[in-house]
This record gives sequence, structure tokens and C-alpha cells, in this order.
Amino acid sequence: MTEIPSSRVADKVRIRADIAAMQPYSPTASLEVFADQLGIPAERLIKLDANENPYGPSPRARQALASLNTTHIYPDPEARALRALLSDYVGVDAGHILAGAGADELIALILQLFVEPGDTVINAPPTFSMYAFDAPLAFARVLDVPRRADFSLDVDGIEAAARASGAKLLFLCSPNNPDGSLIPPETVERLLDLPLVIVLDEAYIEFSRAESLARRVPETPNLIVLRTFSKWAGLAGLRIGYGIFPREIIAHLWKIKQPYNVNVAADAAARASLADLPALRANVERLIAERERLERELAAIPYLHPYPSRSNFVLCRVTGLDAAELRRRLAEEYGILIRYYSTPRLRDHVRISAGTPAQTDALLAALREIGQTSEAE
Ligand SMILES: *Cc1c(COP(=O)(O)O)cnc(C)c1O
Repeated sequence: MTEIPSSRVADKVRIRADIAAMQPYSPTASLEVFADQLGIPAERLIKLDANENPYGPSPRARQALASLNTTHIYPDPEARALRALLSDYVGVDAGHILAGAGADELIALILQLFVEPGDTVINAPPTFSMYAFDAPLAFARVLDVPRRADFSLDVDGIEAAARASGAKLLFLCSPNNPDGSLIPPETVERLLDLPLVIVLDEAYIEFSRAESLARRVPETPNLIVLRTFSKWAGLAGLRIGYGIFPREIIAHLWKIKQPYNVNVAADAAARASLADLPALRANVERLIAERERLERELAAIPYLHPYPSRSNFVLCRVTGLDAAELRRRLAEEYGILIRYYSTPRLRDHVRISAGTPAQTDALLAALREIGQTSEAE
């Protein structure tokens, strides 16, 4: 390859300065990439790092994918069939529902719709990383109002920040990723009085046994609720999510969304999933039971301190043992993948997704062994 003098490239190729200065980012790798890195066959890895559903799609969704014969035709830009089924599922008129290539696409789309350069959005970390990731790309300034030590929202802090900044959007996640706590509905109600739009991310609501706030959207002009098929329905790899939006907001979203954002495979699998709810709900119940078992059993491991969770994962503080080292040993010695955080607030924490009972058995055995073979008390 011949080197092109960089001064000449810079004359012609003018990358946005803020993106040129960004550090590259590495999302969680696929099973195959981990298998390569660790030298362990993919089918022997236990992947508990991304809150994916170990039971996979429902039988009907697998069948719909196997018999798909429309991959040569563009999808319906309005995803009408899917939105009609979603209307029954969430109990809101289809006119309030927009489907996306994962809830992730909708987060970026919402920011595009509201933010003009320099506008502020409020974030409540620790929380799902995509809000703070997408906001600067949409030229928004992110104002952090950190959650309290128990991961509850600093409601007074959010109100003060909203008043001082004139923020247009507030991102809330309930149950919150990474700790699994629910935001009490009264808290959301109180924050809805602020002069901004709340984006309430309910990616894990199916695991919470709590009521979704989706039905509140039609009568609430400043509430957006985001949902996804990635976790409860086992479709993470297909990228299919949706939002419930007030009329005044959805009318404008329709104008800016990519016409074919939901692919035909994702659309077919999502519709089949909604026709197979008993099977999927049985899997959700299994995962809730495993999460409850994890909370109990992890609390009995001296170096782990789990937080109560209403989701399909458990966040633990790690003491007497380096959390990054724990993640490394589980992966390299046992082929078990868990989530570790390098941010200052969560440096001594790990998040473990609920898996199958056999996966929990293997995880607990490994954690006990590591406790015996390290300095951890
Ligand atoms: C996993 C996750 C999402 C991503 O949803 P997709 O539909 O897969 O894009 C959104 N929000 C939270 C809080 C998540 O943990």
C-alpha cells in the first residue's frame, strides 16, 4: 500500500472534528469472536454479559424465519401488521407506535428529532450507555445527574438541572440497566411536570412484574416509552424494538425515519413472537426464577454483594478481589462471560445476566472455586 501524505488527505477528507477526536469504542463481542479469543468452542461458552435470552426465539418465531420467502422484497415502511399486533400487546392504539431496528435506533432518532446544536439532555448515570453515546453525535450537551448510592434517582437534582439548563429531553431507564431497580411510577409522574420530554426505556419491563407506563402515553404529551424484543423475546440479533409516542411527536418521527428501518426477518419474527406469548412468558418466568436464585446464591459468596433486581440480570459489588480480574478468570478459566465496567462509579462491580439453571450451576461453582483460589475472603 502506498502512503498518501496525510496533509493532502486532510485537505479533501474533512471528518467532523468531534468524531475525529473520539476514542474508538468496542461493544460486547459476538460469541464467535469470544470463542476465537479464548480458544474455547462457541457452544461451550456461557454468555452472561449482555442480558440476552439463553432460550432464544419462540418456536413460532423460528418457524417464521425458516419459512421466510420475502427477503427479496422491501419491507412495509409502516410495519402495519406488526404495529397492529403491538397495539394489542401494549394496549395502545397503533397510531402511537413506531417500530425500529432495535430500541437503539429509536434513541438516536428521538435525539435527531429534538436536538438543535447546543441543546441539553439530562442523563441519570449509571444507566444504559447509549443515551450518552448518541447524544453528542446529535450535537446535544449531556447533563449528568448521578443516581444515589442505592441507584435511585436524585429527583430534586433532576428538577434543579432541568430548570437551570432548559433541557429538552430526560432519559430514564426502568428497570435500570445495570442495577435492575424500578423507578416508582409516582416519581415518573412528578418528573412529567417538568418542561421537557421524558424518554422512559422499558427494555426489561417484561421481567419486572410491574405495569408498563405505555398506556399513559396517549394522554401524556411529554412521555415516550421504549420497548424491545431483544431481551424477553430472544430476538437481540435481529434488531427489533418499538416506541410508544404521543401524537404530536410521532407525526414528526414518521418524517425522519429511514423508510426500511425494520427488515423483513425481524418483522416476521416479532409478529410470530406476539402470536406465541405463552411460550415466551414461560421463558421469562424461568429467567425471573434464575435471577431470584442468583440474588440469593450470590449473596452467600463472601466477595460478592448483589443489589436487588427487577430484571434479568444482577449487579454485584466485588470486594477483596479485583472485579476486572474476576471477569478475566471467569472467561479464561471457565468460559463464562460477565459484564465488567471501567467507569469510576462501577469499577468494583460486575453485572451477571440470568441464564438457564445449568448455566447458573456452572457460574456458581466457578465463583466458589475462584473464592478459594484467590486472596478473597
Ligand atoms: C438492551 C437494551 C436496549 C437495546 O435494545 P435493542 O432493541 O436491542 O436496541 C435498550 N435499552 C436498554 C436499557 C437495554 O439494556
